[in-house]
Amino acid sequence: MTIQTIIQKAIKRLELEGKLLTPDFYAEAFCKESVKAGVSVDDCLHVKKFTGTLNKEFQKELTKYHIKSMSELARFLISKLNRTNPSHCSDMLESQTTFTKRVLQVVEVLHNKKATVLAKKSLDLLNNEASASQIDQYRQLWVNFITTYDDTFLEKLKVLGNIDTNNLKKSIENLQLNSHDKLVSSMELSTIASLLVSSLVPSIASSVNEKIADLSKKIKNNPSLLESSSIEAEVKSAILLRIALDKQSVREMVESLDGVLDKLSLRLIDMIEKSDNSTVEIQKIKDELEEYNEEPITNFKIAHKKLYTIAVALEENTQSLSKDLETHSNEVRALSTKIKKLEKELEEAKEESKEDFLTKLYNKRALDEFMHVKEAEFKRYDHNFSVVFFDLDHFKDVNDNYGHDAGDAVLSAFAKILKDEAREVDIIGRFGGEEFIAILAETDAEGGAVLAEKVRKKVEKAKFMYKETRIEVTVSCGVCERKTHSSLQNVIKSADENLYKAKNNGRNQVVYK
Ligand code: GH3
Ligand code: MG
Ligand code: MG
Repeated sequence: MTIQTIIQKAIKRLELEGKLLTPDFYAEAFCKESVKAGVSVDDCLHVKKFTGTLNKEFQKELTKYHIKSMSELARFLISKLNRTNPSHCSDMLESQTTFTKRVLQVVEVLHNKKATVLAKKSLDLLNNEASASQIDQYRQLWVNFITTYDDTFLEKLKVLGNIDTNNLKKSIENLQLNSHDKLVSSMELSTIASLLVSSLVPSIASSVNEKIADLSKKIKNNPSLLESSSIEAEVKSAILLRIALDKQSVREMVESLDGVLDKLSLRLIDMIEKSDNSTVEIQKIKDELEEYNEEPITNFKIAHKKLYTIAVALEENTQSLSKDLETHSNEVRALSTKIKKLEKELEEAKEESKEDFLTKLYNKRALDEFMHVKEAEFKRYDHNFSVVFFDLDHFKDVNDNYGHDAGDAVLSAFAKILKDEAREVDIIGRFGGEEFIAILAETDAEGGAVLAEKVRKKVEKAKFMYKETRIEVTVSCGVCERKTHSSLQNVIKSADENLYKAKNNGRNQVVYK
């Protein structure tokens, strides 16, 4: 196709489109027809050629204006040039820098540490006329910041209730209005409820109070009750009740303790008073206890002190008592061993003794021995002997009327008479009680009766004096000789029978036949 044809088609196109044959419309139509004909015309490429050399910003802007011709491009550039001049650029730059600084100052006071630090550094940078590369570096830091910024924490706020993350200030102001209630989650509320319930339980008083128990149950079953203001008064009165119950318990405990302590004190004082060991220390403890008794116990501290003092006193007293007891029991043990030894010795001495302790005459044991000796002599040498039994008359009355000591004195006096009247070879002794015996060697019954009669008379006449009182005493005698009898036993028996006869005959007499 020739240029001529393209020109004709271009003119025809303008006619069809109803456009005037202006240079711009013609150029446009010509270029369209040449493209259609596949012919590259230099003039048609001018616009593209120039716009391609512009920077991308202008190119973008150009597409908005649909610039197709050189004249349009010229108009665009002229208007751009008219609007842009050097002073305008520096004004723009300055106002943009100021604007950036303000924004950074705002960011600096916001509540994000990373952002405020970055804002501060950026401001320093701008204030110190930073280089383009430094600004670019900070631009990158801001890009990094916004890329990594995590605001998911705002989501967590929503659990607190009606939170608008787009208007945190308002939401927070709303929160502050009911801060206490709203901030407490339901889980925390139940924890507080169980804490409150356990704190309502009296720690000292053992009894369960119905009022407290009811309230505890109520709160436990429905912890959200704690949010209501009506519960406040109930909780307050329950706390007061709990304190009152504890106080009452303490009072009762102290009172009972006081009672026990007083009893203990009295007992200790009694113990100390009865104790022989009245040392200064014990006296001191006693005084202290008396002091305590004067003051009523008002608290545990004093009660504790009092108990401790009593315990110490008791311990010390018991220790000294048990020490004393131990010493004493050792002494008692030693004494009892000694006594037992002495008793044994006495018993042995008694058994060996042939002397009557009161009258100093022979005792029964010695008399028995002598009788057997006399019996042996009789049997071997046919030596006769006689036996005289003396028995004081109504001696029981002497004891009854004048006392046992008087009786003893009479017995001693009688023994002396007997000793005086008997011969030296005669064996005289006390057979027992108020009975005496004389064994007369080589003596028959008549001879025996002579001695007996002498004694009887002497006794009858004797003045037995006891404490300036004369005691009348008589004696009855039974006499017997060996040779008229078959055995020693029979001699003794006969002498006894004769004595019995003398008694029966009226006493104070001698019977020998
Ligand atoms: P009877 O004339 O019948 O002998 O009367 P009795 O009272 O002498 O006789 P009985 O046998 O009834 O009492 C003897 C008394 O002798 C009783 C007792 O108290 C007293 N007697 C015996 N031994 C002793 C002694 O060692 N000392 C004193 N004081 N009295 C004694
Ligand atoms: Mg008698
Ligand atoms: Mg008698």
